[in-house]
Amino acid sequence: MKHLILLLSVFLGLTFTISAQNISPVMSNSQYSADEIYFRFSIKDKNELVSITRMISIDNVKGNVVTAYATPEQFRKFSALGYSVTRLPNPGIMTGDNAIMTGPKAPGSGVIWNFYPTYDQYVQYMNDFASNNPSLCKLINFGTTTQGRQLLMVKISDSVDYSRGKPRVLLTSSIHGDETVGYVLMLHMIDSLLSGYGTNPRITNLVDNFEIYINPLANPDGTYHGGNNTVYGSTRYNANGVDLNRNFPNMAGGDHPDGYAWQPETIAFMAIADSDFVMSMNFHGGSEVYNYPWDTWPRLHADDNWWKFTGREYADTVHKYSTSGYFTDENNGITNGYAWYCVYGGRQDYTTYYKFGREVTLEISSTKNLPSSQVYKLIYYWNYNKRSILDYIEEAGYGINGQITDTVSGKPLNAKVFIFGHDKDNSFVYSHLPSGWYFRPIFDGTYDLTYSCDGYNTKLVNGISTVKYQTNRQNVQLVPLNFGVNGKTTSGKLNILPNPSSIQCRIILPESVATGYSLDVFNVLGNKVTSMEGTENPEYPFINLDISGYAKGFYLIRFMNAAGNIWEGKLLKE
Ligand SMILES: [Zn+2]
Repeated sequence: MKHLILLLSVFLGLTFTISAQNISPVMSNSQYSADEIYFRFSIKDKNELVSITRMISIDNVKGNVVTAYATPEQFRKFSALGYSVTRLPNPGIMTGDNAIMTGPKAPGSGVIWNFYPTYDQYVQYMNDFASNNPSLCKLINFGTTTQGRQLLMVKISDSVDYSRGKPRVLLTSSIHGDETVGYVLMLHMIDSLLSGYGTNPRITNLVDNFEIYINPLANPDGTYHGGNNTVYGSTRYNANGVDLNRNFPNMAGGDHPDGYAWQPETIAFMAIADSDFVMSMNFHGGSEVYNYPWDTWPRLHADDNWWKFTGREYADTVHKYSTSGYFTDENNGITNGYAWYCVYGGRQDYTTYYKFGREVTLEISSTKNLPSSQVYKLIYYWNYNKRSILDYIEEAGYGINGQITDTVSGKPLNAKVFIFGHDKDNSFVYSHLPSGWYFRPIFDGTYDLTYSCDGYNTKLVNGISTVKYQTNRQNVQLVPLNFGVNGKTTSGKLNILPNPSSIQCRIILPESVATGYSLDVFNVLGNKVTSMEGTENPEYPFINLDISGYAKGFYLIRFMNAAGNIWEGKLLKE
């Protein structure tokens, strides 16, 4: 009753009219949540959404019709804009039934994933996956929610207890708690990776050559809002009434684009985002489309053609194995995020921009939360999507990759891999420790790469070509800045003019040289390419160096006077 009074007061406070038939179900029917208002309104122009997206939680846009969620407080503010609003039944309770089909069997013994597990079953399954497959699967508890539920993920790999320089991929579902189809699909994926290992060649290859992290339930408080034994009553928001997929730092909206403090779930995900995932997938429901970066702004991602390619690959494969009409929203199943609707604070752009990853938002079912009469369809969604998900994981191993090490010691390095004339908006990647491996998925083309790391000479590698479904392995050694100095510290920096230079450059000497000097030039591999010595003072306080025969790239120039003092400089030959 308290909720009804609250709702009525919300509606009476509005400055626009809601027709009687829209109010009456609120009063007579339990398909509406008091905490989370789900509604529809029309816009004239999508640009209206750029500011609206920061007031309420936009869920879908079809033509000029927008569906959205809001807390009562957000709804009150939004209503001041004067849009005509139609209240909709909440997806988590619209089914009108509170029955739940639970599975009697433990995973690994032929579970058919056509039911929603209870929360306790879910926790048990996740534990069993790991304990039944200790050499392939590790359970990671990466946080606790407001209501004390666990944030769980498994790591699946043949190197489950260590890192061996393989691409890491993260699959996570149901950050919106009432979008529950992906949740069960993730359990099915874990089960099939573990049970298919050693028998299914494709799955065996994935487990051997990738590190796959799967978090089936990103917002357990939302999904089990109706209690631990049912997904009936699930909510989009977490227990604090916050849309977690609007709660991340955003390059245009700042640290708190939604105006809320970071939630426990957000903080937990920000911590695991530091695990250097090459690619990730974030599963949602309410629509059927592959939504790729950026959501924030109309600028295209540097790898826009790669996103379109992987999106088409995903959707076309789904179409091949699904009933007609499935996964055809927007452009036959794929869309640029902003072109659909603008979102600030989503995980996709956070991971892609701040963590140098590639995260896709996958909307996999028009119906967010299946009623009991339809849960058998969970297995259909799995069959429609499973091959496409494997395709996506495999893309993390294509493109340009390799190991970056110190040319002298051989130790792996944490270096930046940047593509000249291509990378923008943080689309570059880093190699990661302890392995020193980097992975750069990219569309077909020929690229000029620079590899840079503090304390090392930058290395240029030109003309690296990529072809789809193939890997161009580029292992790179970087030369320490003090290489060739034999442990002596330098006295200062050499002045080299012009720099960059192509035919001849002039090295300004650091001081008048009393007697004797030597000048050595090293390439990035540490090989000496020029060596000059003089026993008398140079006639001029500079030395002209002919570099016309040098290959393009960086060179280290080292000048030493008779006293053994050293000056160095870096030259770029063009
Ligand atoms: Zn969603």
